[in-house]
Amino acid sequence: MAARVSFIGAGPGAADLITLRGARVLGAAQAVLFDALTDPALRAMAPQAEWIDVGKRGFAHATAQPTINALLLATAGRHSRVVRLKGGDPSVLGRLEEELDTLLAAGIDCEVIPGVTAALAAAADALRPLTRRGSGRSVSLTTAMTQLGSLHATRSADTEVFYMAGRQLGALSAKLLLAGWPGQTPVCVVSRAGWPDRRVSSHSVASLADAGPLHADRPAVVTVGAGGAALASAGTALSASPAKAPAATT
Ligand code: SAH
Repeated sequence: MAARVSFIGAGPGAADLITLRGARVLGAAQAVLFDALTDPALRAMAPQAEWIDVGKRGFAHATAQPTINALLLATAGRHSRVVRLKGGDPSVLGRLEEELDTLLAAGIDCEVIPGVTAALAAAADALRPLTRRGSGRSVSLTTAMTQLGSLHATRSADTEVFYMAGRQLGALSAKLLLAGWPGQTPVCVVSRAGWPDRRVSSHSVASLADAGPLHADRPAVVTVGAGGAALASAGTALSASPAKAPAATT
């Protein structure tokens, strides 16, 4: 059988955030190349497969992208059903273009199965819709890091969700002010969204540095603008259903 590589979005956290389609294709895999941020419980969905760790997490133990591309090609040469499991959604800040390009150029059949990206899981955990009638018509998913590793902030949508800024929240605050966000703009930071130990905190653009210690060494997204604001009724809703309340709200 000709090789097919399925890129599957695992979702940002707990294994049950994968889609039914993702779980079905994962269950038929002979080999799985996986990232550091994916839940180890996903392994139980494909115990028969060879699991290959190509974890990329922040700046630690990064497997170089050309090495991952070469591994994908080699694995597709040995197996007909290969899964490339990625945290969140494969199409969002996941270097999907390089991996797809490598495989398609070699004539290998590919498919992409979407997943829940961190911004959406964070909005769910915080009970803060990303769009708001009247004030939040657009959402932008943005990396705070440029390709060369420097911090960058923009104001391009009513709600701007920044990925990969967790280690530099104080510096991000200054960049947001420079980008034109007023100091009192609401900001919500969620770390380990989608996991049972997720943490949610509320800030303003001017006070964002306060979030640093709360979310240290945890993957986090920073939601700025309309979608970062708590709902007017949030206090009532959270105390009415403690089981669904975020793990920590400040
Ligand atoms: N493809 C992934 C994003 C990969 S980039 C997705 O769609 O979610 C890695 C960045 O994603 C991290 O630096 C962090 O900003 C964010 N991230 C990943 N998992 C997260 C989680 N569980 N909670 C909050 N942010 C997360």
